[in-house]
Amino acid sequence: MKAAAFDYLAPRSLDEAVEALSKHGDDAKLLAGGQSLAPVLALRLASPTILIDLNRVEGLGGLEIEADGSVLAGAMVRSRTLERSPELARAQPLIHAAMPWVAHVQIRNRGTLGGSLSHADPSAELPAVAVACGATLRLQGPSGRREVPAGSFFKGLFTTALASDEILVGVRFPACPAGRRHGFAEIARRHGDYAMLGVALSVDVDAAARVSAATVVLFGAADLPIRAHAVEAALIGEPAVPGLAEQVAPLATDGLEPRSDHQASAEYRRELARVLVRRTLATALAPGAASGVAR
Ligand SMILES: Cc1cc2nc3c(=O)[nH]c(=O)nc-3n(C[C@H](O)[C@H](O)[C@H](O)COP(=O)(O)OP(=O)(O)OC[C@H]3O[C@@H](n4cnc5c(N)ncnc54)[C@H](O)[C@@H]3O)c2cc1C
Repeated sequence: MKAAAFDYLAPRSLDEAVEALSKHGDDAKLLAGGQSLAPVLALRLASPTILIDLNRVEGLGGLEIEADGSVLAGAMVRSRTLERSPELARAQPLIHAAMPWVAHVQIRNRGTLGGSLSHADPSAELPAVAVACGATLRLQGPSGRREVPAGSFFKGLFTTALASDEILVGVRFPACPAGRRHGFAEIARRHGDYAMLGVALSVDVDAAARVSAATVVLFGAADLPIRAHAVEAALIGEPAVPGLAEQVAPLATDGLEPRSDHQASAEYRRELARVLVRRTLATALAPGAASGVAR
């Protein structure tokens, strides 16, 4: 099948893009890397009458890494840029750990940070990473700019806080405090496929070697990235030793009701949640771990 006919607009400025989007409303679709949108159009799951291409809009492709390690990434930063930046790997190890798991190189060459977050596939890596990092998303519409924490941006299956006339323009990742550990792992049918289930986490360890904060995010487990609050609560105040992972991992399934589909049953996903939380935490809590990446 081919996409239905559509008009094409390639604005040069954000103001122009916002104006076009508010003029055409639901008839329009924004085009970023096109890696998710093109199949959607080809299958006629959406038939917009106009595509607004963000690729020539100035100011959306920057990747600024501050001296303290905080990062401001434009929505049009390509996945491959996130993967290959050594500065970003140092400042935000969790992003670096996750990127090789996003699709394949060819897709990462075109796919963008903003496209992935806006598309909001529940099995995608970047939405979970954004939540685990405590990122803030910057949205721009006709009435101005607003900021939304990643934890409130994802609303459900392919659904976000973006209004139909808003564009995601950038993402701020706060600096990682000293003592922060990270963990990332996923299981997919084949490398490059979306995850059946994955875990992205950050754990802060204080000077007394105890866990002072934890964000444990599961993806592929529900309609949106979700936090394993019971695991997080059980970690706080405990000595940061790998054995703690074994103790708290069973709590990963507290309140978890994953879907069953052609990839995996709900019970298998529950088992993956327990196993991957245990593995990622054990690596992150290992002595001297700066960034735990379980594989
Ligand atoms: C074979 C295959 C395998 C894949 N595997 C994975 C995987 O394992 N993990 C994974 O995470 N992804 C995977 N992807 C998706 C890939 O990462 C996409 O690049 C990504 O989901 C969408 O990014 P994009 O820039 O291509 O967005 P597009 O396809 O251009 O857009 C996606 C949607 O977001 C909207 N949008 C785009 N940018 C903005 C913006 N700035 N503001 C508001 N709305 C916007 C578009 O209108 C559209 O609705 C896969 C894709 C393919 C084709």
